[in-house]
Amino acid sequence: MRLAVASGKGGTGKTTVAVNLALALRQKNLTLLDCDVEEPNAHLFLKPVFYFTKEVGIPVPRIDFARCTFCGRCSEVCAFNALAVLKDQVLVFEELCHGCGSCAYFCPERAISEHERPIGILERGNAGNIKFGHGRLNPGEAMSPPLINEVKKMCRPGLITIIDAPPGTSCPVVSAVSDCDYCILVTEPTSFGLHDLDLVSRMVKKMGVQAGVVINRSDLGDDRVEDYCRDKGLPVLQKIPFDRELAEYQARGEPIVKHRPSWHDYFEKMFYRIAEKCEGVSR
Ligand code: SF4
Ligand code: SF4
Repeated sequence: MRLAVASGKGGTGKTTVAVNLALALRQKNLTLLDCDVEEPNAHLFLKPVFYFTKEVGIPVPRIDFARCTFCGRCSEVCAFNALAVLKDQVLVFEELCHGCGSCAYFCPERAISEHERPIGILERGNAGNIKFGHGRLNPGEAMSPPLINEVKKMCRPGLITIIDAPPGTSCPVVSAVSDCDYCILVTEPTSFGLHDLDLVSRMVKKMGVQAGVVINRSDLGDDRVEDYCRDKGLPVLQKIPFDRELAEYQARGEPIVKHRPSWHDYFEKMFYRIAEKCEGVSR
């Protein structure tokens, strides 16, 4: 069963939910993957011991000018404007290249080979009996989906994988949430929270992924998020009230369930509620 934890914006408590859910279910031989590769922080709470590090790259074109006839075909087929063919030159804009391979495939002179452009680092480790993986995208790098897909290779069929997705609703989130059985949407009861929940819930619906909502700092706003969930048929899985002491633990990198054992049960119950909904569809 693959379970994503996402939110329409950063700072809603998405990693808090992912980490504490993983700790509450730690006896289940599960995997936690931090796919928020621009700013991974689940490791600060779980403190895994890493045993594997690998550089991840994407294949980008290299032109053999001894063969190239400057016909322009490669530039025509590139959907990302990563190639420009001039009279006697081919310019490759590597940071725009998605590594799709179309240019090499369609080059009539076989003048294009590929080389790897590094985009980030993949790390794997163990946090007690939780298997852990995350990616670290290189600073300034925009091409995060290939790194996210590499991190997701740690998903193990038939076992639980919790995926901490990047915030927002763009390509990296789609990469993290695709192929998941369920998505927990973390939000806050504010106007911004409602706006971003609407965006991300429409995104997961379009992707055909079931979803439920966790309302963080549930006692600090108004009822509009709950009204929205009722209208859209989104179950409210859990409400987490604001608690200054818990916020301090979090700031020190200490998970909630470590200090409040009752939260262990809340997260476990939430998981069983989700598991019931996924029955028959989980992989
Ligand atoms: S398609 Fe091949 S031959 Fe044509 S411009 Fe591109 S690299 Fe050169
Ligand atoms: S690999 Fe794909 S994205 Fe990159 S330059 Fe070639 S056609 Fe464009």
